Amino acid sequence: MEQTVDVIIVGGGVIGCSIAYHLSKRGIKVRLLERGRIASEASSAAAGMLAAQAEFIDSVPLFDWARQSRAMFPALTADLQAHSGMEIGLVQQGLLRVATSEEDVLRYHAQAELQRQSGESAQWLSAQEALALEGTLASDVYGALYLENDHQVVAPSLTLAYASAAAALGAEIREHSEVQELLREGGRITGVRMQDGIHRCQQVIIASSIWSQALLRTVGYDLPLYPVKGECIAVRTNKPLIRRTIYTDNCYLVPKANGELLIGATVTPHTMQRHVTVGGILALMGVAERLIPSIRGATWIRTWSGLRPQTPQGLPYIGNHPELAGLMIAAGHYRNGILLSPLTGSVMADLVEGIELAADLTAFQVPAMRWSKDQEMTGVGI
Ligand SMILES: Cc1cc2nc3c(=O)[nH]c(=O)nc-3n(C[C@H](O)[C@H](O)[C@H](O)COP(=O)(O)OP(=O)(O)OC[C@H]3O[C@@H](n4cnc5c(N)ncnc54)[C@H](O)[C@@H]3O)c2cc1C
Repeated sequence: MEQTVDVIIVGGGVIGCSIAYHLSKRGIKVRLLERGRIASEASSAAAGMLAAQAEFIDSVPLFDWARQSRAMFPALTADLQAHSGMEIGLVQQGLLRVATSEEDVLRYHAQAELQRQSGESAQWLSAQEALALEGTLASDVYGALYLENDHQVVAPSLTLAYASAAAALGAEIREHSEVQELLREGGRITGVRMQDGIHRCQQVIIASSIWSQALLRTVGYDLPLYPVKGECIAVRTNKPLIRRTIYTDNCYLVPKANGELLIGATVTPHTMQRHVTVGGILALMGVAERLIPSIRGATWIRTWSGLRPQTPQGLPYIGNHPELAGLMIAAGHYRNGILLSPLTGSVMADLVEGIELAADLTAFQVPAMRWSKDQEMTGVGI
C-alpha cells in the first residue's frame, strides 16, 4: 500500500526532530520515520552544552552558525513548552574554560580577544577570580575564560520536546520504522521503501547521522561520514559542586538542572562499539578529580556512550543533494548537534519552503559523490 505526505524525515535524533518541528510550525505535512525510539542514539548521549564559544573559535562558518543557533534557545524553550508541555532543562549559568597550563593561558587570552572582536562576551579570570565564582575548583588552576553565554540544556529532553511539539502541530512521528531504501525515478527521489510498503512524498530529508551513508548508497551516491565514540559519566552530590560548566580540552563537567553532574567525554574515532571502557572512565575521572578534587565524595550514578557523526572536512552536510532532486541532507553535526539543532531545523524548513535562508549554507554543501557496489568512489564536483 502506498502512503503519501509532503515531507519524509528519516531519523528521530535531535536534527530530524528539530526539522519536523520547524516544518510543522509552518503548516507542512511531515512524517518522521525512526527505526528505534526517538532520541535513542547520539541525541540521548549528549551532555547538552551550547558551547558556541568554547568549541568553535577556529572554525569561522561554524562559529557564526553556532552563535546564531545558541541565540535561538530562550525563545525555543518557551515555544516547545507551549506546544509540548515539556521542559528542556535550559540552565543559563555560562561556562568556564579552565586553563591548566601557561600555554592554555596564552591561547585563551588570544581567543578571548578574537571573541570580543566578534561582539561576544569573553572575560579572562585569574585563578583567584575563577575560584571566587566556583569555590570547588582546584587551587592550582591557571585561571579561566568565562563565557557567560555558553549555556546548556538536557539533550534527550530537547529531542523529545521537538518531537512532541511537532506531533502537537500535526506531524506524524513513527517509531520502530526503519527506512530500507530511497526510491529513485531518474534524477528524482520520490519516497522511501519500508517493510510496510512504499511511502511517497515531495521531499525526503535524511537526518540519520552516520547511517545516512547507507541510505544514499541505495541510490548510487556516497556521503562520507564516520562515528566518533564518546563515553560519559553521571554522578550526584547532596550539594551541587559547581554552578557553571567547567570545560577543558580533555574533559568537561556539566551541572544539570536535575542535580546530576555529567562528566564527559572520551573521543574514539572509527568504532561502532558502544561498550564503556574502564580506560575511558579512568581517563575522565582523572581529569575531573584534578579540576574538582572534592568530586571524590560524589555518588556514582551511571555511565554510557554514544556515536557522534563526523565528516572528513569537520563540517556538517546541510542542504539539497546537488544531483538528486527531492532529496535533502542534514547530518554530520559531530560534537555540536544539540547546539546547532534550532538553526539547522529552521534553515531546512526555509529550503523546503523555498524562501530566503536564515543562514548561509555555502560551507555545508552536500557532495556529489557517486558510489557503486564495488565500492569504487568517484568525486564529482566537490
Ligand atoms: C558523549 C557525547 C556528548 C555530546 N555532547 C554534546 C554537547 O554537549 N552539545 C552538543 O551540541 N552536542 C553534543 N554531542 C553531539 C550530539 O549528540 C550529536 O551531534 C547529535 O545528537 C546528532 O544528532 P543526529 O540527529 O544527527 O543523530 P542521532 O541522534 O544519532 O539520530 C539519528 C537517528 O537516525 C536513526 N536512523 C538511522 N538510520 C535509520 C533508518 N534507516 N531509518 C530510520 N531511522 C534511522 C537512528 O536510529 C537515530 O535515532 C555529544 C555527543 C556524544 C556522543
